[in-house]
Amino acid sequence: MGKQTPRHGRVVLVPCPYQGHINPMLHLGTVLHSHGFSITVIHTEFNSPNPSSHPEFTFQAIPDSLSDDQISSGNLAAILLALNSNCKTPFQECITRMAQQKMSDDKVTCIIYDELLYFAEAAARHLKLPSIILRTTSAVTAQSRVAIRQLKEEGWDPWKDSMSQDRVPNLHSLRFKDLPFSIFGVPDNFLELIAQMYDVRKSSAVIWNTMDCLEQSSLEQQQQRCPIPIFPLGPLHKFAPVSSSSLLNEDTGCIAWLDKQPCNSVLYISLGSVASIDETEVVEMAWGLASSRQRFLWVVRPGSIPGSEWIEPLPEDFRELVGERGCIVKWAPQKEVLAHSAVGGFFSHCGWNSTLESISEGVPMICKPCFGDQRVNARYASYVWGIGLQLENKLERKEIERAVRRLMVDSEGEEMRRQAKKLKEKAEICIKEGGSSYNNLKKLLELMSF
Ligand code: UDP
Repeated sequence: MGKQTPRHGRVVLVPCPYQGHINPMLHLGTVLHSHGFSITVIHTEFNSPNPSSHPEFTFQAIPDSLSDDQISSGNLAAILLALNSNCKTPFQECITRMAQQKMSDDKVTCIIYDELLYFAEAAARHLKLPSIILRTTSAVTAQSRVAIRQLKEEGWDPWKDSMSQDRVPNLHSLRFKDLPFSIFGVPDNFLELIAQMYDVRKSSAVIWNTMDCLEQSSLEQQQQRCPIPIFPLGPLHKFAPVSSSSLLNEDTGCIAWLDKQPCNSVLYISLGSVASIDETEVVEMAWGLASSRQRFLWVVRPGSIPGSEWIEPLPEDFRELVGERGCIVKWAPQKEVLAHSAVGGFFSHCGWNSTLESISEGVPMICKPCFGDQRVNARYASYVWGIGLQLENKLERKEIERAVRRLMVDSEGEEMRRQAKKLKEKAEICIKEGGSSYNNLKKLLELMSF
């Protein structure tokens, strides 16, 4: 699909203010922009994206009225519920102002909102504008969240029995311990959010950052239950050349370090933008890495070890080793890192973006999920897709050493690498002309000529 001019109108994007949600939304913006749409991003003041990395978009902040206490609580469900009640009116006012200022050939034609910010649909309806939902998790995650609600209605207490190895009825690849519980906030808030985000209301379509070659049967089941069309468009970051939408500064020095390492020799380690790891586990991780004798690039996000600013808990002896065969950074250009030929494995928390990015580059994984949908993704990566091995227990040095060597050295890891390369090829086919995501994009563009 080539570029088209003139512009088709203006699309308003409403990203949820967390890294794992901002990235796919801005990637989608880049894709739509390359197909002739003007893009305005309406975002909260909290975690606002950096406009200079997308000079082709217009950015508008709206007040979110979150208090410092709310933000520092880290209680995600409560923050999201608050955003949905605080932002509707400022959002509506912002679009109304835009409508008054814009020329007639630059009118807002559609609002695309993150599934978690459903206030945007109510505002769109009020303004008589079509709206589309962007889902940023896997399709299986949606199925399993709905399963949690059903189990709860049947009297089962998922929060009490969350470590059970039993299989979930109707979701046979998952054990109860793989269900995507939130560890942030009270269960009622979590259930309320689930109810809201899977109610498609009056939206016109669902865009999903996943792909048929990964989740065909889950997507088909979702479509059967959903009254509006679903367009799986993943992996979104591969559809158009993307600029970074990082909230933190990327340390590009690690690419120069990777350039000096042999092919497939480096284990990349990152737990994403939200998860944390306690001091004891960090030390276990360090000694596990040390005794695995493998090279590593480790992202330790400042503040991700509670009680420390950065890597103070790491033992001095370990830090000396870093100079020899390791590199530690605060934040990495992850997509570039995973695409680097020196990277042979990814120790990941299995956030959905990280999982898709790893698959897109054919990199096998050590899966260490922390909470929520990471558990589902880790189970699928290891048990269903065969591209990873899952650490099921608390981080412990011997177990880490074994896992790292299994992935980076043993024939088992070679097999996972082969599987990951196969999935990478399938993902490439999805976005090429005639592929499922390519065709879905075509259908979406037709629908968006409202
Ligand atoms: N990311 C990055 N640099 C890092 C760590 C993560 O750019 O050092 C990006 C990563 O590429 C992904 C996003 O941050 O796009 C994290 O999203 P994900 O869904 O994997 O996890 P979350 O942060 O939401 O838990």
